[in-house]
Amino acid sequence: MSNADSSTKKFASQADLEAKKTSFIKLSDNAYAYTAEGDPNSGVIIGDDSVMVIDTTATPLMAKDLIRNIRSVTDKPIKYVVLSHYHAVRVLGASAYFDEGAQQVIASRGTYEMIVERGAQDMQSEIERFPRLFSGVESVPGLTWPTMVFEKEMTIFMGKLEVRLTHIGMGHTKGDTIAWIPSQKICFSGDLVEYEAAAYTGDAQLEEWPATLEALRAMQAEKLVPGRGPALLTPAQVNQGLDYTKDFVTTLLQSAKESVAAGMTLKQAMAHTRKVMDPKFGHVFIYEHCLPFDVTRAVDEAQGIKHPRIWTAARDQEMWHGLQAG
Ligand SMILES: [Zn+2]
Repeated sequence: MSNADSSTKKFASQADLEAKKTSFIKLSDNAYAYTAEGDPNSGVIIGDDSVMVIDTTATPLMAKDLIRNIRSVTDKPIKYVVLSHYHAVRVLGASAYFDEGAQQVIASRGTYEMIVERGAQDMQSEIERFPRLFSGVESVPGLTWPTMVFEKEMTIFMGKLEVRLTHIGMGHTKGDTIAWIPSQKICFSGDLVEYEAAAYTGDAQLEEWPATLEALRAMQAEKLVPGRGPALLTPAQVNQGLDYTKDFVTTLLQSAKESVAAGMTLKQAMAHTRKVMDPKFGHVFIYEHCLPFDVTRAVDEAQGIKHPRIWTAARDQEMWHGLQAG
């Protein structure tokens, strides 16, 4: 279907209904990646006495598939749920883990603030944008609230296994959190890093994002699970993922700055951005879905709007319509 068809207000993603195959990949005796061919990934850390899940999946129904995979390798209670950031598609499955023993939902201060400020609007907007990603949405009991909030970093000892949760900087959102196993140099990055999938930047801090990626690179991860795309299993692959994400966000912001300097309308800015982004990224997963939101946010940021405007279901439609109109 053509996205330029102005007779319909449907988003590109509303016609995207093909289910993805999930994989549960062993990274070490303590770490697993749950990946989904470009749909949101989750991570699993198995300590001596308990299990941590990083990003819950979108609904309790969908979380059951991840729990099934966890139960194929361990009977330990799933004690910790970590939110890499506040987006609905990553956090609304949380209640499924309470039945498995989860006691703590952990998030950064920035993530907590975003849930307070815009969690409800984000939930409605995300569900309407991308219905396929919310299979069993009626099983969602409401927003997911953290039970523990940390300022910059917290360390959890899962028995002898040390896990660090760190807000290393802003990027995909202002609260981005990574999970890190120092003894094994394994990182779960959330949407701060993507690979072979578009970076959604509708709520991003594009100016800060590259420096945050460099802070992550300095940690010299040997394996990294990105927010979307395949698990990166060697230092060279990790660097490729960091380079890919950096290229995506810097190219996007640069063309937005050029568009603003030239006084372009949003629709003209979109066309200008496509000229440089399409050849490099046009083929990757969810590119067509992300680009209108990405360009809108990039133009806002280029105009000096530091704190992303809140997306609502109504604003989604208005933006989409504006980009289709002349
Ligand atoms: Zn996200």
